[in-house]
Amino acid sequence: MVELKNVSVTYSSGVDALNNVSLKINDGDFAFVVGSSGAGKSTMIKLLLKEIDATSGVVTVNGYNLNKLKKRKIPEFRRTLGFVFQDFRLLKDRSVYENVAFAQRIVEKSEREIRRNVPSMLAMVGLAGKYKASPKQLAGGEQQRVALARALVNQPKLLLADEPTGNLDPYNTSEIMRLLEKVNENGTTVVVVTHNDKLVND
Ligand code: ADP
Repeated sequence: MVELKNVSVTYSSGVDALNNVSLKINDGDFAFVVGSSGAGKSTMIKLLLKEIDATSGVVTVNGYNLNKLKKRKIPEFRRTLGFVFQDFRLLKDRSVYENVAFAQRIVEKSEREIRRNVPSMLAMVGLAGKYKASPKQLAGGEQQRVALARALVNQPKLLLADEPTGNLDPYNTSEIMRLLEKVNENGTTVVVVTHNDKLVND
């Protein structure tokens, strides 16, 4: 669940990146946040990840009031989220398997669980056969699938996707959007932030 109540963000430069924004995204929703360049999309993502704080207003994500969230509680909060970015952000010197396993190691899953969970996530995104590959050997659409597997392997309640298809051709764009729909059908709340209003209508 995401709720913004009268949220404004003013940068120290004086720029109002968000001005009195209120919105609610319920558990189980598939939501798009669409805006042109400079509209405040990155600012909103940073707000939802608690990389920045609202200048005024209340931000609640997955039951955490981010205005009041103590620094030491931020990791616990972030574990309720998965995120994917336009530029994939994979570890280039590790295999596909290790990229997904990495997310599980951070939350101290046992090797036994990792050996069970990673292959099943890779199968979910259609990459079961590529677990040994290096990200460098994969096409863009495949790299984003790995990033998606990594974002979802710890079973977050909410997936935040920042321009997830921004670097992809139309075919891979529709494949990634199909996967996001499947993820949502399986119960994860999905928020896609994009400048591309075609994604919403297709
Ligand atoms: P979008 O992601 O929709 O392109 P941003 O959230 O990046 O929009 O930016 C919204 C506005 O805030 C823009 O006018 C931008 O120049 C400004 N802005 C973004 N980040 C900063 C920052 N760190 N310091 C000052 N101004 C910023």
